[in-house]
Amino acid sequence: MNRVRLGAAVGAGKGAGLATRLLRRGGGTALPGLVAERVHPQLVRDLGRSLGGGRVLITGTNGKTTTSRIVAEVLAGAGRPFIHNREGSNLMRGIASTLLARASLSGRIAGAATMVGLFETDEATLPPAARALAPTALAFTNLFRDQLDRYGEVDTVAALWRRALEVAPRDATLILNADDPSVAEMAQGWDGPVHWFGLDDEAFATAGGGAYDARWCGCGGDYAYERRYFAHVGWWRCTRCARKREEPQTSASAVDLGLEGASFEVAGLGRVGMPLTGLYNVYNALAAIGVCRSLGLSDEAIVAGLARVKAAFGRQEVVELEGRTLRLLLAKNPAGANQVLLLLRTIAAKDGGASLNVALLLNDRFADGRDVSWIWDVDHELIAGQVARCWLGGDRAEDLAVRVKYAGWPVPGAVAHEPARVVDAILAGTAPGDQVFVVPTYTAMLDLRAELARRGAVSGAMD
Ligand SMILES: [Zn+2]
Repeated sequence: MNRVRLGAAVGAGKGAGLATRLLRRGGGTALPGLVAERVHPQLVRDLGRSLGGGRVLITGTNGKTTTSRIVAEVLAGAGRPFIHNREGSNLMRGIASTLLARASLSGRIAGAATMVGLFETDEATLPPAARALAPTALAFTNLFRDQLDRYGEVDTVAALWRRALEVAPRDATLILNADDPSVAEMAQGWDGPVHWFGLDDEAFATAGGGAYDARWCGCGGDYAYERRYFAHVGWWRCTRCARKREEPQTSASAVDLGLEGASFEVAGLGRVGMPLTGLYNVYNALAAIGVCRSLGLSDEAIVAGLARVKAAFGRQEVVELEGRTLRLLLAKNPAGANQVLLLLRTIAAKDGGASLNVALLLNDRFADGRDVSWIWDVDHELIAGQVARCWLGGDRAEDLAVRVKYAGWPVPGAVAHEPARVVDAILAGTAPGDQVFVVPTYTAMLDLRAELARRGAVSGAMD
């Protein structure tokens, strides 16, 4: 390794970070990494591989942020030193920025020998990240398509992941979702250790479809399901070859989903609880438990960390507005939206009848995906009989109006582009003490938060 060049790169990156802060540009978390990588392209490799406590990459379509945050919470509670790209982006430049922030100008990270590197990694960044960091563990949460305008992406992403595994150390541990056949495929041809996680709870088996992102098996056969939880996730087997769901080492059963949190049984840990809810967060917890177990963390630390974890920005955020409780549940793709609806159905089933107040907000800006036809892959029918009142907002509120009309929802209290009008309509249609579930796409959530901040309901700060 070229220590002089690495030192120069660290200096340049730190200088860029300082300049960004002085100019008050904000959000410049990726810039230091970008600059430093220009000076020394091997920066992530040289700094990252010095982390001797384990180097973990966490990827997947949904859940990688939450999974990483749970692992971070466990590491913090256990007193294990670690680095986490929590504030930065999940691209190479974000990983570089995270490493830079902890490096001295001599190009060293103090205490690196026992430090864990925890890196939430974008699906497409996995190959360069695996090549640079020589990970000791790679966790895959799930594989869905994001939006319709990125169709074909599922196969592309699976190919990228396989390429990452070709360059990863042969003794790295794979932490895989046993219930997702597309993720399970990553174990094929892998001779190193595999830690499977999955769900064993018949109560969540559905007959219905949902957004079905299943690719067929590599052999060309279709998947059949003994239990289907949602989309292509469940107890699967190939109808043509011998591939089938593996028995997981980390398995959840007797899941109880509440409004404020969830609890479930995990063999070896007993009953665990966390202040996150939804079946998707149970899966995120299982992935995180798998990662923690592969890092040799104690059962006590895992249980305590799960109990302490907080929701990420926009994911199950709770906002009080004039006596109403707004629960923000980000949904950026069909799989995510269906998970939210499943959660609402579970909650409504406990109350009985049509008890749900639901606001859906849909934008079609770049970060949301320009093509909004993906909403037709969302099973709004799931909760049609349980919606008491609804409001539709965002740039494409009219598209939502058509969608929920077909789904059999009641006539909306508002169909409006402006967040202010949607919020006014929610206030007009509810009383203090009422609860409203707000399900926005990403930029619609930013718009709504800005409106709520204007009304003094939330701080303007992002997390
Ligand atoms: Zn097959």
